[in-house]
Amino acid sequence: MFTKHIAVYVVCLLSSLTVSAQEFSQFFTNRTLRIDYNFAGNADSQQIAVDQLNVMPGWYGKTRRLSEVPVEGNGQIIVRDHHTQQVIYRNSFSTLFQEWLSYPEAHTVRKSFENVFLVPMPKDTADVTIELYNSHRKVMAAYTHRVLPADILIRHIGEKDVTPYVTLQQAADTAHCIHIAYLAEGYQESEMDVFLSDARIAVDALFAHEPFKKLRSRFNIIAVKAPSRESGTSEPSKGIWKNTALHSHFDTFYSDRYLTTLNLKDMHNWLAGTPYEHIIVLVNTEKYGGGGILNSYNLSMTHHPSYRPVVVHEFGHSFAGLGDEYAYEAEQIPMYPHDIEPWEPNLTTKVNFHHKWENLIGKDKLAGFYEGAGYSLKGVFRAYPDCRMRTNETPEFCPACRQAITRLIDFYTE
Ligand SMILES: [Zn+2]
Repeated sequence: MFTKHIAVYVVCLLSSLTVSAQEFSQFFTNRTLRIDYNFAGNADSQQIAVDQLNVMPGWYGKTRRLSEVPVEGNGQIIVRDHHTQQVIYRNSFSTLFQEWLSYPEAHTVRKSFENVFLVPMPKDTADVTIELYNSHRKVMAAYTHRVLPADILIRHIGEKDVTPYVTLQQAADTAHCIHIAYLAEGYQESEMDVFLSDARIAVDALFAHEPFKKLRSRFNIIAVKAPSRESGTSEPSKGIWKNTALHSHFDTFYSDRYLTTLNLKDMHNWLAGTPYEHIIVLVNTEKYGGGGILNSYNLSMTHHPSYRPVVVHEFGHSFAGLGDEYAYEAEQIPMYPHDIEPWEPNLTTKVNFHHKWENLIGKDKLAGFYEGAGYSLKGVFRAYPDCRMRTNETPEFCPACRQAITRLIDFYTE
């Protein structure tokens, strides 16, 4: 693991000197290929299958450092030029499917989950690989399929009937910025003013936190007014089921406060044709809940007193790949085996601590190793006593998280 990290680091330094806008236009057009997959299986075996290919106008992700990722993630999508097998695009992600695999239910039933990924539209034939990693960071399932850009069955979407949206903030340089979309969930047509007001609160909350505050001009932000037939969200534990735009619900994996949507195709259909990459779903409910999945989406309730800290905390997961810095009294299933270094930049098992907050120790007298993080009271450490990734009461991200977020924003925009 140590040598692998060094190798990746050296590649980063070299390629940042050579990758240019020309490289993007050599391999890609200014369009987005949206690939819908089904991930299926149980704790013992997993399968990946293509559901549908779609093409949308515009590409709103990175145009430089195309073959690198700033965080490893629990899975990756890798695009190779078919003729040379050169990696021309790579992104990392986490999935609810992999989280589900860690629960007892995955030993008794096979389930399938929708997963949707965006890559720039290749000019020529490309091989697309999906890899999923287990908690020991080893490949547990992989699948490669060919994409022919001229395939007539690639569905054209986002060219008409685009969901109405409002630009809340325009980036200084819209060609090299991070595109965020706030998406309405559980707001009826008549409640869109409430949604816009809730979205503005989320923007204010995010940019009250460093390093987002000082790097604010690098973000382009829209609010997408997806209407729901009913107001609110589903609460299965109370027998309440609502007809909403994204079919979100509490009690995900039978956990009371875990509010998610499993309908990723619906989510991306609402967003098709808008300028988006990172997705923040705002759910019109007073009940406490939320969730954040790296490079997939994050979701938060809007009408609970903890809305502001939660919507920022969840963005820490979905955008920056930060881990939770809290621990449970009795952890059911260890998410972070103690013999493996987690890839999350704000957690360590001390197996391979290099390039995390090493540089802060000594410089900042509070920086160190605080045991109890990543849901585990023992064996997983955080950098500071408290952080936005630990409690809702803390006003800030800790310096280790601030540093990790800054590195990520620079990766996407420099
Ligand atoms: Zn932190």
